[in-house]
Amino acid sequence: MEGWPIPFWGFVETFTGLSAIIIARYFLIVAPVHWALWKRQPRKAVRLSRREPTRATIANEIRLSVISAFIYALPAAIVLEMWKVGGTAIYGGLPQGPAEWLWLPASAAIYLFAQDTWFYFSHRVMHHPKLFKHTHAGHHRSVQPTPWASFSFDPVEAASMAWLLPVMALFVPIHWATALVILMLMTVNAVFNHAGWEVYPKRWIEGWLGRHIITASHHNLHHTKFTGNYGLYFRFWDKVCGTDRGLVGEAASKRRPVAVPAE
Ligand SMILES: [Zn+2]
Ligand SMILES: [Zn+2]
Repeated sequence: MEGWPIPFWGFVETFTGLSAIIIARYFLIVAPVHWALWKRQPRKAVRLSRREPTRATIANEIRLSVISAFIYALPAAIVLEMWKVGGTAIYGGLPQGPAEWLWLPASAAIYLFAQDTWFYFSHRVMHHPKLFKHTHAGHHRSVQPTPWASFSFDPVEAASMAWLLPVMALFVPIHWATALVILMLMTVNAVFNHAGWEVYPKRWIEGWLGRHIITASHHNLHHTKFTGNYGLYFRFWDKVCGTDRGLVGEAASKRRPVAVPAE
């Protein structure tokens, strides 16, 4: 295979650098978001549950997130080293012609849908009572998650997710700029879906975005209710498989008219 074997010390360097970048990215993004929401309690954002995250919960979220960073860095470092010697489907340069321009969003959509699909089904498997304790219990110690939970996975769960995008990058052509956009979306999605606060405007949540895209209003229910709402980015698989439990507050607001006595 072209690009193989990769030089050992180059790999160690890349692995160490990537682990440091992932950990730095985690603290630099999560700390201000956590402060802006849980300390400032802004009026424009909606708090999703009355439950208070404990110090022990946050400590667990940070501990697991740091361990996960090393697990995520491993396959990514292998693929980055292979990229240096031309053994991957990652490419650069200015796109030539409409087809190449179109491939930028098309490849992003393929990568995101593949990741969402893998996450949905592996997530459901990890909720099996026999597997849960060993694979996914760490993430669910956050009954009321905070942004610090965005990367808090048990090592088995982290490993189950970490390989997917790097392996896809060996076969499905992707521009490095598209790859960076996907990594950014991944981070923003994970941080805000675990924020414990809905930061998007109410009209977005009640409109197209809320019906199709997963935000904190959807994922917070997975943490507090434990079953249903298994998806990552899109509500698609939850709807297809009948596991969609709607959004925080939706059930209550639907019940409200029944409680009002008829005049
Ligand atoms: Zn879960
Ligand atoms: Zn979660």
